[in-house]
Amino acid sequence: MDKPMTAHLDTQNPQDLAGYRDTGGYMGFARALDMTPAEVQQQVKDANLRGRGGAGFPTGMKWGFVPMGQDAPKRKYLVCNADEMEPGTFKDRWLMEGAPHLLIEGMMIAAYAIGASRAYLFLRGEYRLCARRLEQAIREAEEAGLLGKDIQGSGYSLELHLHTSAGRYICGEETALLNALEGKRAHPRSKPPFPQIAGLFGQPTIVNNAETLCNLPGILRRGPAWFRDLAADSDDAGTKIYGISGRVRQAGLWELPMGATARQILDLAGGMQDGLKLRGWLPGGASTDFLLPEHLDIPMEYDAIAKAGSRLGTGGIIALDDQHCPVGMVLNLIQFFAQESCGWCTPCRDGLPWAAEILSRIETGKGCQEDLDELSKLCDFMWMGKTFCALAPGAVEPMRSGLKYFADDFQQHIDKGCCPYRQ
Ligand code: NAD
Repeated sequence: MDKPMTAHLDTQNPQDLAGYRDTGGYMGFARALDMTPAEVQQQVKDANLRGRGGAGFPTGMKWGFVPMGQDAPKRKYLVCNADEMEPGTFKDRWLMEGAPHLLIEGMMIAAYAIGASRAYLFLRGEYRLCARRLEQAIREAEEAGLLGKDIQGSGYSLELHLHTSAGRYICGEETALLNALEGKRAHPRSKPPFPQIAGLFGQPTIVNNAETLCNLPGILRRGPAWFRDLAADSDDAGTKIYGISGRVRQAGLWELPMGATARQILDLAGGMQDGLKLRGWLPGGASTDFLLPEHLDIPMEYDAIAKAGSRLGTGGIIALDDQHCPVGMVLNLIQFFAQESCGWCTPCRDGLPWAAEILSRIETGKGCQEDLDELSKLCDFMWMGKTFCALAPGAVEPMRSGLKYFADDFQQHIDKGCCPYRQ
């Protein structure tokens, strides 16, 4: 099975530019330089690459919103969003630790395609090993003339800067990230205007996730048809870094064709730990709706998972087992989101702590029937369109689906006045 992003991770020294080049590294960028930026954009559109940060927006279409041509602003930016903080998600870390040059090459291709001469890599603060390896790889690329002025005599110049985040979940929201990069408090901005038109310092900016960018060298080197064929049986294209955590035998990450099933991923993890059964699962990090064991054979692709009532998100599955309290799990997630709310808008700032308080009451056996209605009302209060960004609506997803699928568990906590899992 072709694993274009990870095939060399175990065999190659990640610091080794020569080793990366021996396996075709930086050939994708060389191909891009032989094309016009518009042609590079077309390759990515034809490849049907969709954003791997969680939302799945078509990458080539996003780039297409950036003004190009004579009248376009002179200053444009490419930003890599590597502020990976979604619970249950650690795919970008694997790529950056193992293949820093792959990401740098991807950023170079994206920057060239939108006519940006400056790029920022916005990295989660705790990812210190990634930072060290990326810093060294950027230096190696500069020394080799792959970054800097007039790259390989092409007339194209690119500066690439690494920026480590101060460490809040909200900094991964693209407009909050841009505020943080500008040295401001990381509040989200209202959209539109989208960053493609008015982003960093008010200039056209593309923000792409690290895994998304890691797909570009392969697409440019081997072509859009090859990329689509990687997932021949899927409506989506390419491979995806899927993962699983929870009480499985071996939590981990695997690069698989888009459209692999959660059952395949669970099998790769060796199944559930002894004596445990799968009760439910979040397909792509904490801000997605629960699915059930009966959904295990649905392809892990954007539209199929949406049809089943959830979102592919980051593709990092979180498994819930039958001896773990679903109310406790939802409480844990809502406490995380409440802590990470930036406080900019009322539904998120007030709604999440309120939901956490009610859930905590229920979980400790002190809840009442009205609490369940209140939680449902809070799901509406924090839904899409009522907040500046996706943080609170994302937090609502496991709560509303938890209330739906595990209604009996919520009810038992109220009826018995305690957590049945702790009896
Ligand atoms: P979104 O759907 O609003 O936007 C996704 C991308 O598409 C953005 O770059 C946006 O600019 C662009 N876009 C969307 N609509 C557009 C339009 N009409 N015109 C032009 N561009 C448009 O999603 P979001 O709020 O950026 O991200 C939410 C996602 O992030 C969730 O799916 C969640 O799973 C994920 N997430 C990931 C992490 C992580 O660590 N990887 C952390 C938190 C959340």
